[in-house]
Amino acid sequence: MKSISSKRVKNLPFKLSPLMAGVVLSLGVVVSGCQAPKTATPNSSNVVTSSTNVEQVAAANHAVLAEVIAKKYIITDGHIDVPYRLESKFENVSAHTEHGDFDFPRAVAGGLDAPFMSIYIPARLEQSGGSKALADKLITMVEAIVTEAPDKFALAYSTAEIEANFAKGIISLPMGMENGSPIEGDLANLKHFYDRGIRYITLTHSKANHISDSSYDENRPAGGLTDFGKTLVAEMNNIGVMVDVSHISDDAFYDVMAVTKVPVIASHSSARHFTPGFERNMSDDMIIALAKNGGVIQINFGSSFISQKAIDYGKLRKLAIKTFSAENNVEANSVEVKAFKEQYKTNNPYPFSSLSDVLDHFDHVVKLVGIDYVGIGSDYDGVGDSLPTNLKDVASYPNLIEGLLDRGYSEQDIAKILSGNVMRVWKAAEAYAASH
Ligand SMILES: [Zn+2]
Repeated sequence: MKSISSKRVKNLPFKLSPLMAGVVLSLGVVVSGCQAPKTATPNSSNVVTSSTNVEQVAAANHAVLAEVIAKKYIITDGHIDVPYRLESKFENVSAHTEHGDFDFPRAVAGGLDAPFMSIYIPARLEQSGGSKALADKLITMVEAIVTEAPDKFALAYSTAEIEANFAKGIISLPMGMENGSPIEGDLANLKHFYDRGIRYITLTHSKANHISDSSYDENRPAGGLTDFGKTLVAEMNNIGVMVDVSHISDDAFYDVMAVTKVPVIASHSSARHFTPGFERNMSDDMIIALAKNGGVIQINFGSSFISQKAIDYGKLRKLAIKTFSAENNVEANSVEVKAFKEQYKTNNPYPFSSLSDVLDHFDHVVKLVGIDYVGIGSDYDGVGDSLPTNLKDVASYPNLIEGLLDRGYSEQDIAKILSGNVMRVWKAAEAYAASH
């Protein structure tokens, strides 16, 4: 268990006692063995008489328990866009950073242990070239983060290394590649990137590539996976690189289901149930197929992945900007359009999703297929300033956990969401590769 003694609990005006680590809570939450906080949280000797107090105590205890759970269990996150963020604007993430959603102090505050660093390759490089070179550069950048702060971060090429780093209190930085274009049609490159630590590949990004069609691209040249894509998935199974079905088209998803011999992940996708017609999220039928395969959907926190109102806002805003540009005959990057965008935002505030909206996605998947197939894929550093209230950065996982507790999830269920399910899938991928 990690130390929780030095950390201030959000929403509570007191510090946790070290003894709080011994908190024993059935879901009914009884806090014992700790100093009672000033805000009326009772220890076991207190008697609560009013129902209002009971509710307050339950709420306060869920906040405390959330902190304990965040420290007690490994927290993985399927997709954090740190490398490309630093490529655009470098900051030292081993200390507090002014920008972005991730840095070491905030990761520690949130209890984050194993964020997958996204080696993101823009879709345009499939045509222009340079995918492999950029991927190598971003991997080197992750290696440098570790080299410069070995007491804070470590690489992790396996589930065993994640667990060993966790035991040492060091944050693992496993790597996933967002867009398979760096494979450049050569299976030797799969081995190259495996050797450099890539442990999942999102088959494509916003455009069709030589592996797969994309959910964001109307052009569907392969009608799913290409022939090379099918071969690649089989080889990924053989070598131990997880297949990530986020971003691919529905047809490509079902092709993956037909080809893969091991469970797969959706590293950062949410439930299409709440965003009808948004192919980037997973339909109920796809989630059922994914669960049957033993895989896991890691919920994306971005507001436009969570609620239809954020998607509608985006569409209306785009249309308004287009209309303004046409009517005034000004370029998209002109001063006039920039001013118009600012004014638009003031007149039409962004409809941020709430923590409760995000929790609805977890509930939906759990009701549909059970607790064993859902995880976290926040997309921190990848979705701009569209993050929901109370889930703004990597310090926020305790808020998510508190919300799950409020909705009646047990500690064991929450542990599965935090990392248990993803670790199961990764271990299955490792075991299959070891036997091939
Ligand atoms: Zn993405």
